[in-house]
Amino acid sequence: MPGFERFGKLERKEVEDVLDNGVLMRYGFDAMRNGHYKAQSLEKELQHTLQVKHAQLVTNGTAAVSVALALAGVGAGDEVIIPCFTFVASFEAVMMLGAIPVLVDIDDTLTLNPEAVKQAITPKTKAIMPVHMCGSMADLDALKAICTANNLKLVEDACQAIGGTYKGKYLGTYGDLGCFSFDFVKTITCGEGGAVVTNNSDYAVLADQFTDHGHDHIGNDRGAELHPYLGYNFRISELSAAVGLAQVRRLKDFIAVQKKHYTILREALSTIPEVTFRRVPEGGEESYAFLNFFLPDLETTRKVAASFKDNGVDACFHYYDNNWHYVRKWEHLTNLKSIYPISKEVKEGMSYLKTKTFTASDNYIGRNLSCLIKLSWTEDQVKQRAQLMVDAINRSL
Ligand SMILES: *Cc1c(COP(=O)(O)O)cnc(C)c1O
Repeated sequence: MPGFERFGKLERKEVEDVLDNGVLMRYGFDAMRNGHYKAQSLEKELQHTLQVKHAQLVTNGTAAVSVALALAGVGAGDEVIIPCFTFVASFEAVMMLGAIPVLVDIDDTLTLNPEAVKQAITPKTKAIMPVHMCGSMADLDALKAICTANNLKLVEDACQAIGGTYKGKYLGTYGDLGCFSFDFVKTITCGEGGAVVTNNSDYAVLADQFTDHGHDHIGNDRGAELHPYLGYNFRISELSAAVGLAQVRRLKDFIAVQKKHYTILREALSTIPEVTFRRVPEGGEESYAFLNFFLPDLETTRKVAASFKDNGVDACFHYYDNNWHYVRKWEHLTNLKSIYPISKEVKEGMSYLKTKTFTASDNYIGRNLSCLIKLSWTEDQVKQRAQLMVDAINRSL
């Protein structure tokens, strides 16, 4: 998935535009900037590429999730249902707002299990946040129906799945709000950056204000602008936006290369009867950022993961034994190890984590390997890799 593999002439050219005039901020300084508005241009390009009415750039993907949830009205003591297999940013972004992340089981899509979501709804639930992990999506129709029936907002974390689609819509544009990350290891990168997208123009106005200290952005004197609401600073810099502008124009090419490499690897692994693949919900198409597959049991999966490492098959993750993406290793969250005091409401609201088990998810994550698809491989390298993977699996079964 990494856009960093493709930092080249196009990215350099956009950055040079900014360096030529030195206006590193997205707002104001109109006379100095020689017509270059990189953040604005990137927002327009995202709207066009993802076929969505509004895009608001922010500093990073974690901020995008916090901002999207704030726009959805999530705040003190509210509960947000999220999957127990996700990146740590998901619960961080919820807790930043003084809200309570409610972790629930995943299913064979490796994302939210709609049945587990239903069971987790309480009077405090405000939003459901599927995380489209490793390039593929949650069952969005089922989640939307639950949201409609319970008057909840659907916020998609599409940080790992830009370019994937569900029933003809780009991931991130199906729910009330969607979030993207452009950090250095995502499909397209700004260095650091993120975006919130929505088709709701009320949210778009609030997003524009909230991410810039509440400024209403009316008139051309920044000092005289009013503050209809309290805000914060989540502004992206023009330098970061410039990199992203070059990258977003290459998104379709990147996805096509990912698809090609993914397909070669998948076809090779399909010859092994013990290997099964993650389920992609009907009507969905992955972004091909990762190839995810299951082995028969935990022990075999550990053996294969070790054999991959020993044989130079890098960037394949066994999330069960990894500290970043699965609830099993999040002791800092379970024990609420915070450098600042956490409210009584959140402490009480999260005490469930001390006893809750995730047996169904353990079964999926324990047997899953998730292999990053790189852009820089040659076709020969992908084929060699496929053979190494097949051999390692066959030896471990
Ligand atoms: C990367 C990521 C984020 C956070 O993005 P940053 O830009 O690194 O802050 C959030 N959610 C998921 C699923 C991610 O993979």
